Amino acid sequence: MKKKLIVANHKMNLDAKKVSVYIKLMQTRANYSNVLVCPTSVYLPFFLKQEYKVGLQNIYFGNSGSFTGEISAEQAKSVGASAVIVGHSERREHFNESDDLINKKIKSAIENDLNVILCIGEKINNKKKMKLIEEQIIKALFKVPKLEKVIIAYEPVWAIGSNKTPTNREIGETIFFIKDLLENKYGYHDFPVLYGGSVNKGNISTLEKIPGVNGYLIGGASLKDEFFDIVEYINNNNEVTNNNY
Ligand code: PEP
Repeated sequence: MKKKLIVANHKMNLDAKKVSVYIKLMQTRANYSNVLVCPTSVYLPFFLKQEYKVGLQNIYFGNSGSFTGEISAEQAKSVGASAVIVGHSERREHFNESDDLINKKIKSAIENDLNVILCIGEKINNKKKMKLIEEQIIKALFKVPKLEKVIIAYEPVWAIGSNKTPTNREIGETIFFIKDLLENKYGYHDFPVLYGGSVNKGNISTLEKIPGVNGYLIGGASLKDEFFDIVEYINNNNEVTNNNY
């Protein structure tokens, strides 16, 4: 079995002082090859000096040009980032990101040899959710080459930052729905799918009982030392080999 991927999404949190405390904390914990830290971009140079893998929380789809304030996949790759989060619900909601834009970003990331964490998930937990998830995935992956560079993060929007999680059964069913879709539509067996939404030290042992989960995307809890306890718990509970993230 591949190592579970654990993604820390810092969002727009931590000031420079807190980042330096966080990095010191990272250095005192074991170096895990299956952890991807996605800091606020302004702190990328500090994180890139560490042993952990580093990703961006967002990119623009062009490689360079007059796009004030944006960062391209080409630039991200050139500083040593290995991955980018695309399609996070906060970007879909606050910045009106469409499936078409998300698709362009994924293509640009892959052209520039970045791995992609594609976030998808329903706003409301109802019967329509599987159809919505299917649509999000199909539109995001339209004509995307090298699907092996993509990992899907299933994040029910209502579970993000809310301290609420779906039941293990609900998460498991959705994860297998996604894996079946990727197998039937694109021929990828056991496509990697992460779970995200209020993962913390208190619920990780419960979540770890769900079959088929290939890792986690963690927001709030990734800002604290609790994150490294979660990583240790996951790695101590899984037989692993290396992966490329
Ligand atoms: C997220 O930002 O994608 C996320 C899952 O956040 P949290 O862990 O805080 O719910």
